[in-house]
Amino acid sequence: MNQPNLPLAGTTLSALKHSQALDARARQLFPDGVAAYSQSREPHPLYLERADGARLFDMDGNSYLDFMLGAGPAILGHRHPAIVEALQSALALGLPNIAVSERQIELAEVVTRLVPSIEQIRFLPTGTEAVQAAIRVARRASGRALIAKFEGAYHGQAENVMVSVGVPAELRGPREAPLRVPYHCVLPEAVAAQTLVLPYNDLEATTTLLEAHAKDVAIVLIEPMLGFGGAIPAEAGFIHGLRAVTERLGIVLAFDEVITGFRVGLGGGQGHYGVRPDLTILGKAIGGGMPLAAFGGREDLMRYLSPSLYPHDYVFQSGTFSGLPLSVAAGLAALRVLEEGGAAHLCRLGERARQGLAELTRRLGIPACVTGLGSLFHLHFTDRVVTDARLAEDADHERLRALHTALLARGCYFYAGRLGFLSTAHTEADIDYMLEAVATELGG
Ligand code: PMP
Repeated sequence: MNQPNLPLAGTTLSALKHSQALDARARQLFPDGVAAYSQSREPHPLYLERADGARLFDMDGNSYLDFMLGAGPAILGHRHPAIVEALQSALALGLPNIAVSERQIELAEVVTRLVPSIEQIRFLPTGTEAVQAAIRVARRASGRALIAKFEGAYHGQAENVMVSVGVPAELRGPREAPLRVPYHCVLPEAVAAQTLVLPYNDLEATTTLLEAHAKDVAIVLIEPMLGFGGAIPAEAGFIHGLRAVTERLGIVLAFDEVITGFRVGLGGGQGHYGVRPDLTILGKAIGGGMPLAAFGGREDLMRYLSPSLYPHDYVFQSGTFSGLPLSVAAGLAALRVLEEGGAAHLCRLGERARQGLAELTRRLGIPACVTGLGSLFHLHFTDRVVTDARLAEDADHERLRALHTALLARGCYFYAGRLGFLSTAHTEADIDYMLEAVATELGG
């Protein structure tokens, strides 16, 4: 499973001439020189020539260990032979996008076996669309409209969930009843009013808010571990309690496992905690690096998608690229590798990274809190224990961004200021290399 150990750039970064020249060109065409926000990097993006295993190679001859992995999807690393083979064979078959194939059934069979709360499933191209489809199903089933989500959670780029993703101190309001804060968009009041914001890891306040709005709430969306909010795991009592409250109030509980799916063990966050949600949203890793997402859950909910059962009032869910054959083939290949030991390897590596970071910051006397689960890890520069997005946001963010930027010169590529991702292509030696680089940067 390990990739050949290619040399790293070491401690010096050769001049980024190609990247700089391309950045100047790109800035003429794209706002900030990037085709999407996630491509941004300080002082400018690194233009890559190729990627292999856990490594990236830029156009100026530098190589990096990749701890960003395209923000999660490349769970087997880059150019894994199983993915290359699956893509080549799917290309050779030449299936059109809107056509069903046996592989689609096979993938659905694997996913429903690994995540048993998913009794029926649908595929979509992106997590954003899968979240919205889950909301539509919950609304249809309950006859209610309100969406409840947690402060600091990211559920994609649709306006009804672009609420309180970031939690700026001056706008956030009381901890037990967070205010609705638009996330870098102008939300008409009527849109913002569709969404109720709940405090993560606070069962008492969450219960109070849900009880107060019970007759209106269609769905509670939760990331079992806040992903881009700081890789903050739910506390077991909180997530089990949330299951009980939503059941009592007749509210659909949907786990957004776009980040945690297959990364926190094969069963995702729900397998980790032993909680059975009503609906689940998957994305990123499910496509093995290709665009693929899914949502699924209780059969009595998913049936609302059926025009044959509900000819006049079924819930519409479609998409030109839903269940794209290339993505399905790559996803199936990825899940097979994960089942054959890849998932266990990932969790061991994640544990090593988290333990190593905790140890080295303790040794250096730097106040820090290390969070994450499975193959995900995060370092917060704070003397507090980080249990929600407010505490994460109040940590010294600039220091983490600066650390990630400085680590480029030591051959480590992170999503600056964000959580770290691991792939099956990473080795223990890669983790130790990264830990040493972090220790050196922090002055150890
Ligand atoms: N949910 C979560 C938890 C995510 O992290 C993301 C993307 N980072 C999404 C949904 C949206 O997925 P996509 O970018 O595929 O639309």
